[in-house]
Amino acid sequence: MPHLVAWNLTRRCNLECAHCYIAAGPSESASSELTTAECQRITDEILSLNASPMFILSGGEPLLRDDLCTIASHASRRGATVVIGTNGTLLTDERIAALQDDLATKISATGAKGVVIDISALEIVDSFVGRMLASISGISRILGATTVVVGMQPAVAITLVELGLSLEGVRTALNVERGMELLAPPPKEKPLAR
Ligand code: SF4
Repeated sequence: MPHLVAWNLTRRCNLECAHCYIAAGPSESASSELTTAECQRITDEILSLNASPMFILSGGEPLLRDDLCTIASHASRRGATVVIGTNGTLLTDERIAALQDDLATKISATGAKGVVIDISALEIVDSFVGRMLASISGISRILGATTVVVGMQPAVAITLVELGLSLEGVRTALNVERGMELLAPPPKEKPLAR
């Protein structure tokens, strides 16, 4: 059973990129999508085969699904590490602020040891988003979790430095897979033969 499950929950998307890997776009409808209950049942079936996989919930644009949080928390509560693969354009200031509160609650409730924030879709960053990133990583650190920011573009890094946001204690990686490698526990040492 694979450890990593990339799940395209919808073909709806607010963008219509020429290079799209599943021809997603605004003209797609929700009619052919799995229901919330079906997604939860499939999640349970996957978790019965692998108790702690990593779920990348993507699309299309997964934030267009009203039940995204329900599906994500169902998987997270049962042991999966959940990552949302979004194009980032629907992450409003309000949603980012809500994410900060939600994240603190989730870390505390689950005892999570790591948080991966994928900002590869961010081409520019303003002071609000920059401060939120710093704040999320600070809260995670206090709660005992390491934050890994993945996919940071050069312009974003330059802006964060210009804003004086050092993101202390944050680790960075090229992509989600590399970020998860950074959080993976070290392999157990074999006991010495007597
Ligand atoms: S943002 Fe992603 S899912 Fe949406 S159209 Fe572009 S490539 Fe496809």
